[in-house]
Amino acid sequence: MKYLELAEVYEDLEKNSSRLKKTAILSEFLKKLKREKNHEIIYLIQGKVFPDYSEKEFGISEKLCIKALAKASGVSGADIVEKWKKIGDLGLVAEKVMGKKKQGTLFSNILMTKKVLENLRRLPELSGKGAVDKKMSLISELLTSASGIEAKYIIRTLLGQLRIGVASGTIRDSIAEACFKEKTKENVEAVQDSYDKITDFALVFDKACKGLKTLHATKLVPGNPLKAMLAQKADSIEDGFKKVGSPAVFEYKYDGFRMMINKDKNGVIKIFTRRLDEVTNQFPDVVKYVKEHIKAKSFIIDGEAVGYDLKTKKYKPFQAISQRIRRKYHIEKLIKELPIELNIFDIIYYEGKSMINEPFSERTKLIRKIIRNNPYHLRTAKQLITDDVKKAKEFYKQALKDNQEGVMIKNLEAEYRPGLRVGHMLKLKPAENELDLVITGAEWGKGKRVGILSSFTLSCRDSVKGEFLEIGKASTGLKEKEELGLSYGELTKLLKGLIVKEKGREVLVKPKVIVTILYQNIQRSPTYKSGFALRFPRIIALREDRHADDVATLKEIGGDYERHELKIRY
Ligand code: AMP
Repeated sequence: MKYLELAEVYEDLEKNSSRLKKTAILSEFLKKLKREKNHEIIYLIQGKVFPDYSEKEFGISEKLCIKALAKASGVSGADIVEKWKKIGDLGLVAEKVMGKKKQGTLFSNILMTKKVLENLRRLPELSGKGAVDKKMSLISELLTSASGIEAKYIIRTLLGQLRIGVASGTIRDSIAEACFKEKTKENVEAVQDSYDKITDFALVFDKACKGLKTLHATKLVPGNPLKAMLAQKADSIEDGFKKVGSPAVFEYKYDGFRMMINKDKNGVIKIFTRRLDEVTNQFPDVVKYVKEHIKAKSFIIDGEAVGYDLKTKKYKPFQAISQRIRRKYHIEKLIKELPIELNIFDIIYYEGKSMINEPFSERTKLIRKIIRNNPYHLRTAKQLITDDVKKAKEFYKQALKDNQEGVMIKNLEAEYRPGLRVGHMLKLKPAENELDLVITGAEWGKGKRVGILSSFTLSCRDSVKGEFLEIGKASTGLKEKEELGLSYGELTKLLKGLIVKEKGREVLVKPKVIVTILYQNIQRSPTYKSGFALRFPRIIALREDRHADDVATLKEIGGDYERHELKIRY
């Protein structure tokens, strides 16, 4: 397929803001891909060239794009920078400078999607000496045969800012519409289920093209990450029983981070975080525990890693051990300083078979059969199965005494639903004034904080429209020095590479960095796009294990607001 054809679809999607219209445009295009058996182009629709679970990055800066553009167009780098300052979007600049160039008519000059996929896929492999030059020639090779509109989307893809407003929900709906006669709720769910198991839209699309039966038969593959099942909220123990039924399962809600541990039939162990980043290398201790304490040839298990103090054996909060996710050096030293215990609470795959459709009662029994408990290394989550409100309350109290966040309340009969926030697994915590939010902007500091970002714009997610909406600004909670904890400097380092726009001291950043915010209360406010504002927000932790899709939604914040209002009134 010609890349121009795809670029025209991008344009169409960008112009039409309604989700219904976008779905119609995309499903028409997918029908064409289906006829041509060209499933991988769906990655390019996502602004990617690999499946969602892949961690490979292009590693391309704006500077490199400018150089490649200069080389391909003959316009000077300084001129391009000048235009970029005026227009603000390097994609539009590319459209302008490449648009002037005469188009070749020879077939060899026609840019094909296959070539774009090929060149872009080579970028993450390049590192070390000469890598920048090689990267530049791969990009300028594409740009040289690109027209204005093609250049615009190549540059935007490279910079991770496609701006066509297509979230994964739209892709899912479009696949259902393109592959089945009707886009029924069942068809859409079948596409979503398949995606949650394999996190790869091209493969899901391929299966959907073959029919509903093939889609339903999507198999879990240990070693490929799958999306974790997520919880809804309970307001109290009584509310928990009402929602999941009685008797119910109560488990400690450990204050750590999620680990999905895979062991394939060759014995290879891989660990993934909730946002599907692979962290196996950071946790040789966990790999060892898994080998020693879990008796099975292949599995996918779900658990929470929680930190503790080696001397007092007291559990520590998440923020005390968060460094373990990101630090890639001196790991042995870190293991000694910040030891973790792995608490297993679910099993999703066992000895070649999916456990997804088995009731929780069976899954929880199975983990107790194959795991040898060894406190402070690896164990099954503390659990109570009861129909007694009093006993459940005691258990909840004990969890809090043991420095954990609260309890999880689970239905005994329920299946495992990857990627879904289900009503049969609930979380109950005492204080509700903590939120995970994504940083979408910041402000350069003054005085002693010159050159450092010192105020951060926080956003929640509108899950219907797939947008991020501002809800407040936080400038406290961080440390001046890195040794003392999460610092301004550290956050600046993370955000600097994500800046998409600068105006005076204000910057806009790509929504990638997630933080936990402690606040006093929520108010209605016309100042922010979300319609709400947080009072006294403080940044208390960096959540490198979480994805922007995991942040609090507008709906949840509306719920929290109402709960706060009720508390004030009664
Ligand atoms: P939240 O992060 O507030 O949405 O709460 C859900 C998270 O609690 C899950 O993603 C897990 O990381 C964590 N968690 C801790 N203990 C458990 C448990 N026993 N069962 C399920 N999830 C747990």
